[in-house]
Order: sequence, then structure tokens, then C-alpha cells
Amino acid sequence: MENLTELDKRHFIHPTSSIQQQQRDGAKVIMEKGEGIYLTDTNGNVYIDAMSSLWNVNIGHGREELAEVAAQQLKKLAFSSAFSTFSHEPAIKLAEKIASISPAGLNAVFFTSGGSESNDSAIKLVRHYWKIQGKQDRRKIIALKRGYHGVAAASTSVTGIPEFWGMAGHMMTDFTHAETPYGGNTEKAIASLRQVIEEEGPENIAAILAEPVQGAGGVLIPPADYFKEVRKLCDEYEILFIADEIITGFGRTGKMFGMENWGVTPDMMTFAKGVTSGYIPLGGVVVSDHIHNVLKEKSKGTLFHGFTYSGHPTAAALALKNIEIIEQENLIENSREMGEKLLEGFQKIKENLEIVGDVRTIGLLGAVELVQNPATNKRFAPDLNVAPRVIEALHERGVICRPVTFGGTDIICFAPPIVIDNKQVNTLVEKLYDSVLSVQKQIGVPS
Ligand code: PMP
Repeated sequence: MENLTELDKRHFIHPTSSIQQQQRDGAKVIMEKGEGIYLTDTNGNVYIDAMSSLWNVNIGHGREELAEVAAQQLKKLAFSSAFSTFSHEPAIKLAEKIASISPAGLNAVFFTSGGSESNDSAIKLVRHYWKIQGKQDRRKIIALKRGYHGVAAASTSVTGIPEFWGMAGHMMTDFTHAETPYGGNTEKAIASLRQVIEEEGPENIAAILAEPVQGAGGVLIPPADYFKEVRKLCDEYEILFIADEIITGFGRTGKMFGMENWGVTPDMMTFAKGVTSGYIPLGGVVVSDHIHNVLKEKSKGTLFHGFTYSGHPTAAALALKNIEIIEQENLIENSREMGEKLLEGFQKIKENLEIVGDVRTIGLLGAVELVQNPATNKRFAPDLNVAPRVIEALHERGVICRPVTFGGTDIICFAPPIVIDNKQVNTLVEKLYDSVLSVQKQIGVPS
């Protein structure tokens, strides 16, 4: 058989990657198997998957139960359509289950195959909601700077990280971005949202879309009162509020959904990733009873929006088992407890190493910031590549993590599987300490 690295270069265009780097260096790691929080590559190297791969393998790798449920469903009815008036039991049962665990008053689900499709669907659905009520001008979507919502047409436009906008030259119109509450100031962030609403004209705005905790932006946890104020603002201006729960759903933040941390109920919620722990692609949008009622009453004729895989039976059957495992094994509680333990570890590292700035967790979503001066939060020069160096050092020690360097930051993100235990958290923290220490030695402690 030809060398996998050569075949990879020749035929596989990787997602979110540098094509030139791939052609020069080839695939650095080719993964072969996974179990629990660990991944093993084709050379037999074992890694802690400290990001749950792409923030999605919530219940960890290699769960036989999911394989069995999927195999049974594949044999019985692998796929059939849910278009028009066709349906099937797995999608019906999953919709009911998701309604039962969603915030009160959100009870109807539209299924997709992933996060980007979910946000594009939510955006089209809110515009449709206004249009069928004769308010077709309400089209604009306000999102937050540093927010990440995907790479489909609308979800790229609504993403608040400019690096994602350049690829194809043009972005869709009717999307605008307000300040993130990153840094802890609710008043300033709400003033920015209010200003954007006033500038765009409330009568032109369909919805505000935001993550409960900004993930790809660098695990930016908002102040506790921020989303309550966002909700008030939406109610004041009659704007819908969409929560992007694609990372934060299914136990990641120590609650079933992230918005529960702030006691705020959105009008719509998008989900993906943790709903199947990544074993099979699936996502969706949950809508409020009010929106559902308006659709039932006023959406005439065919709703020309549906994916081949909306409500895929095998994905749905697997998702049901995944949610059952999260509930039966008390993984939400584990996420909360292990998140606190991880934070204690981060804090100890901060006490002992000079280049560690803010550290934070909410459930098992966490971040460690590297800064030149923790007292003033002065950043390192971007060409020092501090975060990528720490990621490299972690990799050498068998830990896979993700750096965030947008806007001159050096943030190391953590989102380990929510099955992680005490001992494994300790190992992760030890390896992080060693990695940051080695980079601190390389660059020298800044004076
Ligand atoms: N929203 C958020 C908050 C995400 O983190 C992601 C993926 N990282 C998406 C949307 C897009 O999901 P997908 O990659 O499944 O399209």
C-alpha cells in the first residue's frame, strides 16, 4: 500500500488547514483509534484528547453502546426521508427528547447535519418568521466580535472573526457585529449592542445570535449578568434571541445547555457536536412555542428548506443513546466537578509561572492565557508564537490542545471529554505545567 502521507497530500484537501503546509510537511499525525479521553496514532503514540477533538466528543471515544445502537439501526432502517409527510421513529423520539431537555418553552426541532447548517437554518427561519408576519425588513442579524458560527454562507458572515471572511472575497449582507463582553464589562458590551441596534434600526433587525461562551474565539466566558441584559434588550426592541449552543450543549459547561448558567431562555437554540459526541454528524435548531405557533399559523405552502439528512435515522438513534449515557452516568455533574478541579490546577500553574495571565473554566470548557505581563495583561508580540509553542510542547508530551491567536491573543483552549476523571485531570495539569515552563525557558521570563 502506498504511504498514507503521500496519498493524503495528493488527494485530501483538509478542512481549516494550510494547503501549502500540508504539501510541504505532510500530515503530522494520522489517528488510528480512540478510547475514553485518549487517541492513538498510526505510530502507536497515545495522546490525551484535551479538546474532545473538535469540542465534540463529549462522552469520549470508543463507546461500544453507540456502535451497537448504530449497527442495529443501520440494519433495520439506515436511512429514509423525512421530507414532506414522511417520518420515522428515531427522529420523532429524538425531537421529543431534545424538547424535554431544552429550556422551558422550546419544544420543536429542525434537524441538520452539523453546526454551520444549524446556524444557516436558524437565520433563514427567523427571517421567514418575520416575513410571514409582513415584516420582511427584519432581516439583519447582529452577532458578537470573536464569535464563531461556522463556514456555510450565512454562518461565515455571522462569524465575528475577520480571518474567516477573506476566502471567497465577498460576504453576505445584513450581518453586523457588536463588541464581545470579553474582559468583563457588561455595561460597555450592552452599550455597543444598543448602539448597533439603533444604527441599523430595530425595525430592520431579525435576531441577535451569540454563543453562551465564545469557543473558537478563545473560551471567552461572559460576566454573569451579560446575557440577562441581552435578553432584556431583545425584549425591549422585539428582537429574537438565538443561542448558538453548538459547543456549549450537552453537558460541556456543567449544565445541559450553556444558557442555563445565566438563567436565560433564548427564542431559538442551535446545537450539533455533543448531541452525538461526534460519532455521526447531526445538528439542529430548537424553536420556541411562540415561533412554532407563528409557523403553524402563517407559513403557507412548502417550507423550501430541508437537507437530505435532516433527521437521519441512524444519527438520531445514536444521539438518543448518547444523551442517555450523559444522563445516566451523571456526566453533567462530572463536567462541573472536573471543571473546578481543572481550574484549581490552572490557578496553581499561574501562581508558579510568570507568563500565565487569566485562567478560567466553566464546566469542562477552559482556557489559559499567556501574557508578557499578567498584572497589566500586556500581550506577547505575535511573532514570538507563544501559544503555538505551548501547543507544540503539549503535543510532545502527548496532549492535543488548541491555540487561539486571533487579535494578538495567546490562548490555550481546553475541552476534554466530560468523562475525564480526577487522576486524568491531574496528569493533564502536570503536562501543561511542564509545557508552559519549557516555553517560558525558551523565550526567557519577560522583565
Ligand atoms: N458554532 C459554534 C459555536 C462552533 O464552535 C462551531 C464549530 N466549531 C460551529 C458553529 C460550526 O459547526 P460545524 O463545524 O459542525 O459546521
